[in-house]
Parts: sequence; structure tokens; C-alpha cells
Amino acid sequence: MSNARQIIAMLRSRAEGDDESFFSIALQIAASEARQGRRQSAEEMRAEIDKARAKDARGASVPIQFSQPRGSVEGLLEMREPRFKLRDVVLGDVLLTKIDDILRQQRKRDWLREHGRFPTRRILFVGPPGSGKTMSAEALAGELSLPLFVIRLDSLITRFMGETASKLRLVFDETAKRRGVYLFDEFDAVGGHRTATNDVAEMRRVLNSFLQFMEEASSTDSIIICSTNHPSLLDRALLRRYDQVLEFDAPSSEQIRKLILANTAPLRAPRIAWKIVCAGAEGLSQAEVVRAIDDAVKTAILDQREHITTEDIMSRLRERHNMRTAFIDADI
Ligand code: ADP
Repeated sequence: MSNARQIIAMLRSRAEGDDESFFSIALQIAASEARQGRRQSAEEMRAEIDKARAKDARGASVPIQFSQPRGSVEGLLEMREPRFKLRDVVLGDVLLTKIDDILRQQRKRDWLREHGRFPTRRILFVGPPGSGKTMSAEALAGELSLPLFVIRLDSLITRFMGETASKLRLVFDETAKRRGVYLFDEFDAVGGHRTATNDVAEMRRVLNSFLQFMEEASSTDSIIICSTNHPSLLDRALLRRYDQVLEFDAPSSEQIRKLILANTAPLRAPRIAWKIVCAGAEGLSQAEVVRAIDDAVKTAILDQREHITTEDIMSRLRERHNMRTAFIDADI
């Protein structure tokens, strides 16, 4: 952005009372000053911004708007206030390391920008349903104290047939105006040319717009996450646009144990035969294991017991396996 455009954008955000955009643009100017070797004025600007932010927030951290989107984007994205932190999500070490890295880059994004680098901000989540993709997006938002905006692509495409690309433009404009975590759910609807409508020309248009918007996203301070159950359906040109790909998988035995222990409250779970339980949970997703343990806990509460047993858990796990088979049969 040129300086004149940055000043116009600042004036606009000021008039709209959008302090977060105002400070974010000011920081971008400070970063470009630093890149051009004017370190002292960059430092001065950053110090003034910090002072103004602290005053606005009366000493608290930067204020972020947690309100439902209004105006043209209303109804295109659903805002959720994050309920989770990273410690609530049961994940493998590789995933945790990648998420920690993303968080670190986001927290130090001004510093990276001053050195002419962008933080990781376009991320693809790949993995089976119920493996924690949505929950992890929410946890990322929670860790960064940002709102989570969910965009359901399949329903967007069906609802705005022929106009999907222009609706996506509005959503991407919002990512620049309002810092947040933007989760594009059911993303294979775009990359896979596979929707209820089967309109190939429309899907091409949507895909091309998406490719273009993803390129522009380098100037945004928001995090853009696309989530899919079917990576094989995604277009290669699209896959190249991501800064990072996170692969989610079925839970390991250790993760099954953690999922169960994290969900037994207010009951206790002494003397659980973990080998049997982990074998019983094999083939189920994280979400199904959590549902099973939730049902087991509710039954034990109603029975006025203080503990849950291996058999309580096993019977609910069997129930989940049966439901899965029933659904697969129904599919055929
Ligand atoms: P996905 O987006 O991959 O389909 P979700 O994140 O929506 O799955 O998971 C649905 C629910 O299942 C979550 O709200 C949570 O209760 C539980 N769950 C799924 N994965 C995990 C996980 N890795 N750790 C803890 N709970 C999980």
C-alpha cells in the first residue's frame, strides 16, 4: 500500500471508530519505515502506538471487537467467541509444534514485518471429520484473543449461486479490516469442483477468485484457515498457496486416554483397563470418543455413582461403532 492509501485507510477506520484497523495500519507504516532504514522514526511511531493503545484500553491489552459482523458481510460469516485454549485440544507432538510455531509468528508479527517477513497466516487443515480441526481453529483464536469467524462454503455456494465470488470478495475484505481467525469450512466444495449444484463454470470462477484473494492475503493481519476432509479433491494450484499444512489424524492410544481423562469430570476414573478401552476405541474419531465418554459419565451420574468403570466406557464405545456402521450402511 502506498503512503497516501494508508493515510486514507487510517482516516476511514478512524471515522468508523475501528481502532484496531487504525493501529494496524499505523504499525504497517512503522514497519515500512524500519525497512527503509529509518529505525528511529519507526521506533518513535511504535512507542506512540503502544501509548495510544494502552490509553484506549486503560492499561489493558489491545481491544478487539467481539461483535457479530454487520452490513454487507452479515450472514456470510458466523462469529464465535473462542471457548478453548490449546491445552484443551488433544493433539500429537508434530501438530502441537506446528501450532506453537504459528502462534509465535503471530505474536511477533510486527517484529517479523520490520524484517520484511510475513507471519504464517494461510493454513490448510486436513483430516477426517471429528478429529479436532474446528476445535483447533477455535483454540488458535483463543490463544491470540481473537474472534473466530466461520464461513461455510458449501452453503455459501448453494445460497449465492452465480454470486459466490463477489460474496467471497466481501469476506476477504473483512479479513483485512478486522483481525480474526477466519475458518473456511467444507473447503473441498471449492477445490474439488464438487457441490450440490454441479455448476462447473461457477466453481471455476469461485476457485479462481479464491486463488487471487489468497495471494492478496499477504497484507492482512488475520489468520485464514481452510478445513477439508478430502485433500485429494483439492486443486494443486490452491495447495501451493498455503504457508502451512496441518494434518489431523485418528487418535493414538495415548490420545484416546487423554481424551477420556479430560472428559470424566465430575466423576473419577480409577482402575480403567486402558488396553481394553483403547482397543475398543480404535476406528472411532476424537469426537466419537468424547461423545461416548460423555454418555458414560451421564449414566454414572444418574446412577448416583462416583466412578466410571471400564464397562461403562466400553458399552458406549460399542454404541458409537454401531452408529457408524448404521450410517455407512445407509450411505450405500
Ligand atoms: P472437525 O472440525 O475435525 O470435524 P471438531 O473440531 O468439530 O472436528 O470436533 C467436534 C468435537 O469433538 C469437539 O468440539 C470436541 O468436543 C471433540 N474433539 C474432536 N477432536 C478433539 C481433539 N483433538 N481434542 C479434544 N476434543 C476433540
